[in-house]
Amino acid sequence: MTPPILRTKAALRDAVLGWKRAGETIGVVPTMGALHAGHLSLVEAAKADCDRVIVTIFVNPKQFNNASDLENYPRTEEADAEKLAPFGVDAIYAPGPGEIYPEGFATAVTVTGLTDGLCGSHRPGHFDGVTTVCAKLFLQTLADRAYFGEKDYQQLQVVTRMARDLDLLTEVIGCPTVREPDGLALSSRNVLLPPETRAAAPALNRVMRQLAERLAEGESLGPVRFQAEAALREAGFSEVEYIELRSADGLETLEHPTRPARLLAAAWLGGVRLIDNIAVG
Ligand code: AMP
Repeated sequence: MTPPILRTKAALRDAVLGWKRAGETIGVVPTMGALHAGHLSLVEAAKADCDRVIVTIFVNPKQFNNASDLENYPRTEEADAEKLAPFGVDAIYAPGPGEIYPEGFATAVTVTGLTDGLCGSHRPGHFDGVTTVCAKLFLQTLADRAYFGEKDYQQLQVVTRMARDLDLLTEVIGCPTVREPDGLALSSRNVLLPPETRAAAPALNRVMRQLAERLAEGESLGPVRFQAEAALREAGFSEVEYIELRSADGLETLEHPTRPARLLAAAWLGGVRLIDNIAVG
């Protein structure tokens, strides 16, 4: 059975207060819809841990720094509800924009430091949009736990810090990236890749894995990064926004993986921005 779709925060509040009164734990999986197996892995993790699971579907205008990206973002609510049917999700919360940003809305949640660099420098305002909507969704759903993908690694770190800094009662849980068999990280934007570019897309993950291996063997990022960028251009990528090595915890810039480290990259293929990240060492 497809889960009930709740459209207002009042309807959501009714449901979650009932569950809370019964002593049940609530897990939330925040998404922008166009669900794929990556999202569904978060739903499975939430189901395994929590008595009740809410999947939110909200294409959050505040986290788009580009109007055409927002306009072109895939919206597939009916298919999303069908995909969730086998998982025993208790509710889909798909609010209209006014439920999240009522007229006169004037508040923003900002995390500093962790949002410098990486996607933060290339997408101005993006993380403020993410943290503002996540704070609201955590409070509206009264969730005990919220499930996020490592696919958006900087986002996971930023949202974790936000919840901690604001003493929110929602614990942020990170889950591994789900990939196609060829290594391409699943993403709602993959459907926007022109068919002739799809074969080139796994080069991002392949080049990153080769780079990570060389870093783990002791080479410095500087020179090998140039080679990786050239390999991506050779494969058909039009622009490499960044390839960086950061500490896994605080996202500090590293030249060598001297502590638990993450290689993160963003690059453009066929007019679509792809991101990926992997552990190093
Ligand atoms: P989005 O709908 O793109 O905002 O993503 C919603 C959630 O799904 C975020 O926590 C993402 O990190 C997560 N997610 C997206 N793609 C994947 C993937 N390939 N594997 C695991 N989680 C993912």
